[in-house]
Amino acid sequence: MYTGIGASAGIGIGSVVIVKEPSLEYSNKPVSDTAAEVGRFQAALNDCIERTTAMAEDMKTRVGEKEAEILEGHVLLLMDPELTGQIESKITDEKSCAEGAVEATCDFFAAMFSSLDDELFQQRATDVCDIKTRLIKILLGVEDVDLASVPQGTVLVAEDLTPSMTAGINPANVAGILTEIGGKTSHSAILARALEIPAVLSIEGIVSSLENGQKVILDGETGKVFVDPDQDTLKEYEEKRAAFLEAKAALKKFVGKPTVTADGIKVELCANIGKPEDAAKVIECDGEGIGLFRTEFLFMDRPQVPTEDEQFEAYKKVAQQLEGKPVIIRTLDIGGDKEIPYLGLGKEENPFMGFRAVRLCLKRQDLYIPQLRALLRASAYGEIKIMVPMICCVSEFRQVKELLAGIMAEFDEKGIAYNKDIQVGIMVETPASSMMADVFAKEVDFFSIGTNDLTGYTMAADRGNPDVAYLYSTYDPAVLRSIRRVISAANEAGIMVGMCGEAAADPLLTPLLISFGLEEFSVSATSILKTRKEISSWTKAEADEVARNAMAMATEEEIHAYLKSVAR
Ligand code: PEP
Ligand code: MG
Repeated sequence: MYTGIGASAGIGIGSVVIVKEPSLEYSNKPVSDTAAEVGRFQAALNDCIERTTAMAEDMKTRVGEKEAEILEGHVLLLMDPELTGQIESKITDEKSCAEGAVEATCDFFAAMFSSLDDELFQQRATDVCDIKTRLIKILLGVEDVDLASVPQGTVLVAEDLTPSMTAGINPANVAGILTEIGGKTSHSAILARALEIPAVLSIEGIVSSLENGQKVILDGETGKVFVDPDQDTLKEYEEKRAAFLEAKAALKKFVGKPTVTADGIKVELCANIGKPEDAAKVIECDGEGIGLFRTEFLFMDRPQVPTEDEQFEAYKKVAQQLEGKPVIIRTLDIGGDKEIPYLGLGKEENPFMGFRAVRLCLKRQDLYIPQLRALLRASAYGEIKIMVPMICCVSEFRQVKELLAGIMAEFDEKGIAYNKDIQVGIMVETPASSMMADVFAKEVDFFSIGTNDLTGYTMAADRGNPDVAYLYSTYDPAVLRSIRRVISAANEAGIMVGMCGEAAADPLLTPLLISFGLEEFSVSATSILKTRKEISSWTKAEADEVARNAMAMATEEEIHAYLKSVAR
């Protein structure tokens, strides 16, 4: 048995087809006619742009807009004068052949992106490598591997599945995907999930260990892969596959339905996103709005700060796509575990307790003001609400409101459109803001409980430290009491209270959150239907009974075990 990263849920059973890239060897002799060589490169470049655009179009109609944007990103990279200019100079100045110039330049950019310790930059490095291979293939006249015509029941096995390879996949014929590299957020994982093909990634040496035609089973949840399985394993996994498909079909009946408890209490079910492109998936998964847009990703996926206009376009795009549904946009939350290398913020002894989020933004107004301006401008195009992270004291929130008031006064004077009634709320994710929830409730328009941080700060336990991992639990009575008091304070003051931490999607906590009076659940797009189903399975009276029992218990262990025992 092999184990990798389960990156796309489901059970795949089928026969191996190994996808090997053809050899791309060329002789790197200096060229004499550099002008002709630049011409050869430009012809290949145009061809590549044309083919990639066509693939993006195809992807858009067959898979989805968000997935097509990966390939559209490639087109933008291919048109980037920084990249093409360097390739052409290599040919002209160093007399390099076109293939050599493409390889050296792309490798340079890929190495630069890889050296940055951030998953998004790592992904950008993969994109540059994908483009490099495609350009060299066109220059050498080598055609792409055709994945469109593999037989039914195929399990594709490759070192990596690049977006250009995946573009041709027919999901009806592909039972699973196994690769040697890639993680949960790599493009191959995103595409596998969008195509609903089970996938296990990052299995060392899998390409050389398997042979074409071998029978395999893969579990896209646990990451387990069985080669030449025995009859018992095959039977077990056939049953698991049937159960998975049945559960998936059962969820479909929640599409287009309101999110209500079994006795008809309506709550709002929104989604968390990191990039504007993710909004399409929220709509596809029937989200009722966006409960958390983590804007720091706009700052991470690039080598410099996005301008006010770039941010405005990104926020406006999401607001328009959501067509009047609420879009809660959180202002920049960097620091802690979220680094932005080009800001050069320096290392801190204790980053989670340090200079992060609103603390940093209030000091670095050169970063904050353009973001607030962009948010206000975009508020003219949809139901945008502004959310401030890591708030500890009321004065921090008042300072943000003052900055907003200053911008609004300027906009009024200049006649710049914005929503004058825009709601401004806070993330409750520190014990300080939880303790002061009743006071905050009089100052802010809404709360969203950030249980990821609230759990860590309440328990004084770093999630990344295995020695204290036993303390990092939202089931701990201390954390649950904190959540309950925040919800009560909001309910009493009549302001909206939501939750955007991971706990909102935890089925064990659903009855407690219903009983406490949570009004909005914000979960990952893929958890929307599961959460709607979970909420629909409890009446308020049943949820109250569970909450009464759980909240009378003294330890995390007791509460956790009890919630498991009553889970639906
Ligand atoms: C949280 O802390 O619960 C939260 C949603 O924010 P993040 O995970 O981005 O810190
Ligand atoms: Mg947080």
